Amino acid sequence: MHRHGLPIVYTPGGDFADPGGNGRPTPLRQPKASEVVAARIVSDVVAARMSPGDRLRPEAEMLEHYGVSRESLREGLRILEVQGLITLKRGPNGGPIVSAINASYLARTATLYFNLSNASYADVFEVWADLEPSLAAKVARIKDRDLKVAALGRFLDEAVPIDDDALTFSRNNGFHAVLAELADNPVLTLLTQAVSHIVVDHVVESIDPVHDLEHLESDHDAIAQAIIDGRHAKAASLMREHIEGITEQFRTKWPDRLEESIHWR
Ligand SMILES: [Zn+2]
Repeated sequence: MHRHGLPIVYTPGGDFADPGGNGRPTPLRQPKASEVVAARIVSDVVAARMSPGDRLRPEAEMLEHYGVSRESLREGLRILEVQGLITLKRGPNGGPIVSAINASYLARTATLYFNLSNASYADVFEVWADLEPSLAAKVARIKDRDLKVAALGRFLDEAVPIDDDALTFSRNNGFHAVLAELADNPVLTLLTQAVSHIVVDHVVESIDPVHDLEHLESDHDAIAQAIIDGRHAKAASLMREHIEGITEQFRTKWPDRLEESIHWR
C-alpha cells in the first residue's frame, strides 16, 4: 500500500537533515532563543523538584535569571503552554503554573506527525496491541503482590458490578490507565497512554454507544488475576488477545473507520 504521506527522515545525531530526500544534507536550523529558554525552564522545574500547581518565578525575575528579551521569554512560555506543561494565568495574580504531565498533549503532537505521514487508525490499533502486552508483562513482574492487589482488586470479577454504561466505560478505560501508572517506566507509560488517548479520543468516543466496544470486563478480570499472580507471559498474551479482540470487534462494526487517516487534534 502506498500511503502518499510526507517522507519520514531519520537523522541520528540530529545535526543534519535531508528534507528533500535527495541525498543533500541541509543543516537543521539553530534553536531560537525562545526554545533555548523553554528548555532551561524545563531543566529548572526538574532540578527544583517542582510539583503541579507550583508557580514559576515572576516574569521580572525570569528575565534577569535567563538573560533573554521579554519577547523570547513569553514565546518560550507559550511553547511550554502549547505542550501542556504549564498553564498561563492572566491577570494581576497571574503567571505561569506548573502542570501535571498529561499524555494527551503527547498524543496531540504525535497525531500531527501521524497525520502528515498519512498513518491510519489501523496503524494505531496495531501499535496499541504491541504496547499494552509489554506493559501488562512489566506490571506482572512487580514483586509486591499487595501493591498489585490494592491497584487492581477492583477489576476482579468479585468487585461490585456497576449498572451504568458511562461508569462501566470509565472503569474499563481506568483499567488500562492503572496498568500504565504501575509500570514504573515513564517512557512505556507515556507512549502507551499517548497511543490509548488516540484510540479512545479519536475513535472509541466517536462511536455510539461507547460501551459496545469495551464490554470485555471478564478480559480485565483474567488479565488482572494473571498480573497479581506474577504470570507475566500469561498476562501479556491475555492482553494481546484482549486488544486484538477490541480491534476485531471494531473492524466488524465500523470497517471504514479503521482505514481512515489520523487527523491532527
Ligand atoms: Zn480493556
